[in-house]
Amino acid sequence: MKAINPATGEIIKDYREHAPEEVKEIIEKAQTEYQSWRKRSFAERRALMFNAGKILRKNKDNYARTITLEMGKTITESRGEVEKCAWVCDYYAENAEKFLADEIIATDASRSFVAFQPLGLILAVMPWNFPFWQVFRFAAPALMAGNAGILKHASNVPGCALAIESIFSEAGFPPNLFRALLINYRLVENIIKDDRVKAVSLTGSEPAGMNVASIAGHELKKCVLELGGSDPYIVLDDADLPACVNTSVAARMFNTGQSCIAAKRFIVVQSRLKEFEERQAALMKSLKVGNPLEEDTKAGPLARPDLREDLHEQVMQSIAKGARLLCGGRKIEGPGAFYEPTVLTDVKKGMPVYEQETFGPVAAIIPVTDTDEAIKVANDSIFGLGGAVWSQDLKKAEEVARKVETGAMFVNGMTKSDPRLPFGGIKKSGYGRELSHYGIKEFVNIKTIWIA
Ligand code: NAP
Repeated sequence: MKAINPATGEIIKDYREHAPEEVKEIIEKAQTEYQSWRKRSFAERRALMFNAGKILRKNKDNYARTITLEMGKTITESRGEVEKCAWVCDYYAENAEKFLADEIIATDASRSFVAFQPLGLILAVMPWNFPFWQVFRFAAPALMAGNAGILKHASNVPGCALAIESIFSEAGFPPNLFRALLINYRLVENIIKDDRVKAVSLTGSEPAGMNVASIAGHELKKCVLELGGSDPYIVLDDADLPACVNTSVAARMFNTGQSCIAAKRFIVVQSRLKEFEERQAALMKSLKVGNPLEEDTKAGPLARPDLREDLHEQVMQSIAKGARLLCGGRKIEGPGAFYEPTVLTDVKKGMPVYEQETFGPVAAIIPVTDTDEAIKVANDSIFGLGGAVWSQDLKKAEEVARKVETGAMFVNGMTKSDPRLPFGGIKKSGYGRELSHYGIKEFVNIKTIWIA
């Protein structure tokens, strides 16, 4: 399994994959560890989770470098990602006991209540785009709830996977409680089928989600799916345009556009269209694309050359169907998988950038006549992850936010995850929730106890 720097095309390291027999051994050890871990007090778990946060902060620069080298995000964003992981560790260290405290419910019993108990060993199948954050937002609540975890990380970030495994063991967690498996995804099926594995969490694309969900469904095992998105970014007639455009570029370009909750479809009312197009294209053109290890770089390469090919194909096909190119639209020559920040306008139904998720630095502007049409277009998507609406009339914006079919809507801001707020989608963006008190309850037995 090769880690390849997408900025240079160079091999960073070739990792030996785990053989199926080794995977079985790791599962056995994690299962054994779980039996004692589930009995440990919240106070003990809390101390270890705080340690994990401290280790992340202490070695932030090293971990950030590993992230940037393996998947190409800018070094400043990588540092931010590591800090956010420390935050989620602290958050669940502080709150897990409260979230999972017995819930007393008055009934005809002398006492009836709900207890929240761990499920056991949970498999996490994770993507490369936030190679630390996606794992920590699963692992921090899962471990605090008393579960054990095994991680099948994306094949292009093995160094990140192993670094995360060692953070938990360095923090003092039992050494086999959280293990990384360096394996091809084809082995996932057998792992889900293993009796010792009780549930699975997958963050990734729709095809991966469908595969994992069908295996988990067949095995009658709990499954949480965080899949793709094509978030609408709605610009109404009274939007504060300078702020709205600045944020729109940040919302599209964060992680070089490779974020599930990136703003992807810019739905703009006619009265503000020209101004929006001009400002957005000007800002996109001004971004420094280049070596992600340099402090002032705003966009790195795409994570793999094949992903750049896919994106370019979506842009070309959309242009062929009538989209107008305002800037970008080209692969940047050289060994890295760089792509020009791109803005397309006059985007319509039937074009790939309207229908599909674009995972890279490509903004698609869809003109609409009014608010009602904006909502209709926003909902005209197979996805339902996040979205944003811009208007100075907060009441109107809130009404729009309620009508858009997604797992989250942000008014006058950019969609982002926050440990305190639930995160997840509807429609083909998946099901289940991560983060907040909802997230920690996904992998527990919500158990009724009734005492006469
Ligand atoms: P991906 O190709 O689906 O890979 C995600 C993970 O699933 C990897 O570990 C991958 O392993 C594995 N995988 C791939 N195909 C599989 C299959 N058929 N069965 C089982 N496992 C499989 O996705 P990606 O390209 O890494 O990530 C980008 C996608 O993730 C985008 O669609 C993005 O929107 C989505 N995403 C969603 C969220 C969210 O919270 N909703 C967050 C981040 C990303 P290999 O690497 O070995 O193929």
